[in-house]
Amino acid sequence: MKRLLIAAVVAAFLPAGAQAQTAQDLAKGAGDTKNVLNYGMGYNLQRYSPLTQINKETVKRLEPVWNYSYDDNRSEESQPLVYNGVLYVTTNSATMAVDAKTGHQLWKTKVDYPPETPRIVCCGIINRGAALYDGKVFRTTLDANVVALDAKTGKEVWKQNAIDFKTGYSMTVAPLVADGVVITGISGAEFGTRLFIDGWDAATGKHLWRTYTVPAPGEAGSDTWPGDTWQHGGGSTWITGSFDPELHTVYWGIGNPGPFNAAVRKGDNLYTDSVLALDPKTGKVKWHFQFSPNDPFDYDSVAEMVLADIKVNGKPTKVVMDANRNGFFYVIDRTTGKLLAANNYVKVNWAKGIDLKTGRPIDTDVIVKARAGEKVELWPSILGGKNWEPIAFDPHRGVAYANTLNFGMPYKAIPAEYKAGDWYVGMDLTQGWIWPKTADGKDGPRGYLKAIDPMTGKAKWEAPSDMPRFSGVLATAGGVVFSGQLTGEFEAFDADTGHKLWHFQTGSGVEGQPVTWEQDGVQYVAVSTGIGGVYSLFSGDERLKGIPAGGSLWVFAVRK
Ligand code: CA
Repeated sequence: MKRLLIAAVVAAFLPAGAQAQTAQDLAKGAGDTKNVLNYGMGYNLQRYSPLTQINKETVKRLEPVWNYSYDDNRSEESQPLVYNGVLYVTTNSATMAVDAKTGHQLWKTKVDYPPETPRIVCCGIINRGAALYDGKVFRTTLDANVVALDAKTGKEVWKQNAIDFKTGYSMTVAPLVADGVVITGISGAEFGTRLFIDGWDAATGKHLWRTYTVPAPGEAGSDTWPGDTWQHGGGSTWITGSFDPELHTVYWGIGNPGPFNAAVRKGDNLYTDSVLALDPKTGKVKWHFQFSPNDPFDYDSVAEMVLADIKVNGKPTKVVMDANRNGFFYVIDRTTGKLLAANNYVKVNWAKGIDLKTGRPIDTDVIVKARAGEKVELWPSILGGKNWEPIAFDPHRGVAYANTLNFGMPYKAIPAEYKAGDWYVGMDLTQGWIWPKTADGKDGPRGYLKAIDPMTGKAKWEAPSDMPRFSGVLATAGGVVFSGQLTGEFEAFDADTGHKLWHFQTGSGVEGQPVTWEQDGVQYVAVSTGIGGVYSLFSGDERLKGIPAGGSLWVFAVRK
């Protein structure tokens, strides 16, 4: 009792945001409506809020409360975190703490980069957000450092280098703190690298473990790589994993094998395009499931591994689900790694389906020809049925909301020669990136926001968009689903019908990850805006020319 009283007195004198977040706080993050403590709005990455002040009726009166400039012209894909009235957000070049109610900047700590840094980044100069734990803000940097800042002051507490970035490694991922360990992934599969997941001590930065996603000779799975191909085998880990605190298991998606040209690395190429179930304390792999063996198509399986407890054949089941870039929606038993369902949620022509017994795709001649070096029309394109942009899952409606991509592309493998620090893909990039939707060359909607039944992959509704959406999705108990457009509109949809209820022009393309929280009886929604991600870099979509860059954070609430 005395200790409690002292703690209360101490807390009263600390400035807002200064109290330390515990492992328990993080574990309860999904139900904590006052804070946004986790990437993905909860360890389960469901991006679902029980808040209802913003609902199907009131959303029409949603208005901006404040706007905060990032002073940065890159793609803004970072997810804000909120703790005790302070909002923590990152760009590639800075970490910032902002008063969540007023938008007033409390501190800003810049990242100092060596001038050659941007050269080694494949798909946008970005950062996807921070992690909070024990009074510290953790982030990664493009030159492959992991940094801990004091949440109160922004001052650096520790900084650790993961690897020399110059041969093609970069970090954009938001760290995950699980069982007190700071876990980070890394990018670089397009540069002939061999990638990994790291664990760091939260207090000191001490390196605790490294789990390679491509095994060395003699390690489990090494027989899936011929010769020395494992050395440039890729397997990046650029999106934050989910965590089940009861099972003490982290679920982390693994990227594509390198090079794209599959003929040079005959075999399954474990653990590329897989999900790894890991022990957060040791990095030990508990089980793995591979989505796309011997993948020629850059079908990174990094995108979020959403955890939910759903009924499968009438039986409550702990699952991990994934709207995979290869076009199939997977539901897997997360205690065992057993596949429960896999159905296409977009047009797919490289596989007829997924064999539920083996988990392996049933190949069509498209992938057979592609591996043999012939030119094919590929659906979905190498950007996938969905790229990195995270889905939301409404546990009450049992529906996943995903910004899906609706275009194919011409694909042709060519020889690849490894040169340290250069692109190493083995794909003819001169063939163009977008395949016309119809045979007569007309271009229909290139994307849909879809409400997907996880067990069938079928859409309950779909909201088309001429230009594909590359923002994260947020679902709420108010029956409102938030998403954003590359043309700048932040949008709200009816969760049951897909009817568009509201939108607001943010001034640049929305590629951020919306979040919501409640402070002093008001529900707020925040999203970053700022164009410059993978579609704007590679699609050649002329319509993007009229969209100005310029990163900022918008916060909205319902007008009383
Ligand atoms: Ca990739």
